Amino acid sequence: MLQDPQQIKILLIGLLIGSTAFDILLSWLNLRSHTLELPNRVKADMDATSYARSKPYHEKNFRFGLLRKLTTTVLMVLLLATGAFGELDAWLRTWIESPIWLALAFFGVLSFGGDLLGIPFQYYQTFKIEAEYGFNKMTPKTFWLDKIKGWVLGAVLGGLIVGLLIWLVDLMGPDFWWIFWAVVSVFMLLVNVFYTSWLLPIFNKLTPLENGELREKIESYCQSVDFPLENLFVMDGSKRSSKANAFFSGMGKRKKVVLYDTLIEKHPDSELVAILAHEVGHYKRKHIVSGMVLGILQTGLMLFILSKFAFSETLSAALGGEFGIHLNLLAFGMLYSPISTAIAIGMNLFSRKNEYEADEYAATTYEAEPLATALIKLHGDNLANLTPHPLHVFLHYSHPPLLQRLGALDQVEASRKAEDS
Ligand SMILES: [Zn+2]
Repeated sequence: MLQDPQQIKILLIGLLIGSTAFDILLSWLNLRSHTLELPNRVKADMDATSYARSKPYHEKNFRFGLLRKLTTTVLMVLLLATGAFGELDAWLRTWIESPIWLALAFFGVLSFGGDLLGIPFQYYQTFKIEAEYGFNKMTPKTFWLDKIKGWVLGAVLGGLIVGLLIWLVDLMGPDFWWIFWAVVSVFMLLVNVFYTSWLLPIFNKLTPLENGELREKIESYCQSVDFPLENLFVMDGSKRSSKANAFFSGMGKRKKVVLYDTLIEKHPDSELVAILAHEVGHYKRKHIVSGMVLGILQTGLMLFILSKFAFSETLSAALGGEFGIHLNLLAFGMLYSPISTAIAIGMNLFSRKNEYEADEYAATTYEAEPLATALIKLHGDNLANLTPHPLHVFLHYSHPPLLQRLGALDQVEASRKAEDS
């Protein structure tokens, strides 16, 4: 079947339409299972009138998402059906000879063009929907600065990666994959280790936590679990959104816990220590390292499969062009999407297991109750859907739904009490 360009073209279009249709169906199922009745477990810490706003918020996002997905899919189907990718390639070839520059120009036009088309959607989402529900704190200036920084960063990092890949393909033929894998793995490690020192400061300001009562409480917790406190930072998340968050990043000496300023604003000290304990749990249970290893393994798998397709004449022809590695890369990316979806499901499963472990760590080294309260408030403030559809959770959720997390926390607490007595 992979010998006939016409059939590959139909397969690519079919995959695109199929995945969009499934995606829309799933979002619709999720919206339908969103009930407004407040579950008993959260009643004490979540306000029913404010939770009532979550349904219209998700409805609006669903309708807007529908428009965005349909527009993107129709456009992509048109580009595939008319052979526009091949025509773009032919046009670039009239004045670029080097395969490296050809690939850079090809992906440059596509990703920049795609991003430009996405701007009206992002703008509406940020300044209309998010603003209407009081989430948006971004000014148009920040919006455009983010865009420009993203383009520069994408051009530099993306350009390096694509340039290196094409160079190795030219140099080594089908054996390119393992050398490129080695280089990309080192690159992924560097990005992970230096993310909070180099990349994050381009967009946000990180400051050490101020002296005061909160810092003292955190200090005494960190001492009790032997976690170095100099790695704790506050980030100005309020520059963009009122939604709060916290995360752990990096490895070894560069490891950092980052708390959003919006989180510190809204939660009492005991809840903040509990959230911090959850993040420390990710570190102590080695989730960062295992996630990194899995990421490197799946990149290797993808590159190995790519090495079998990179030199195919038919893939380029399916996109309407002469043979070109960059055309094959694009077609391969689309053909690979079912595999990457399957891998993403596995990664989400792994991530949800890690969340339970980090919660358990926080409950045993600190306390379960302030973590539970903090999670309830966070879900309430962010207008989360408390009753998501199980299939949507299974496929897309990197964190377990709130009620399941609370159930697990209550269990840890109950068994701890049973041990004490
Ligand atoms: Zn977590």
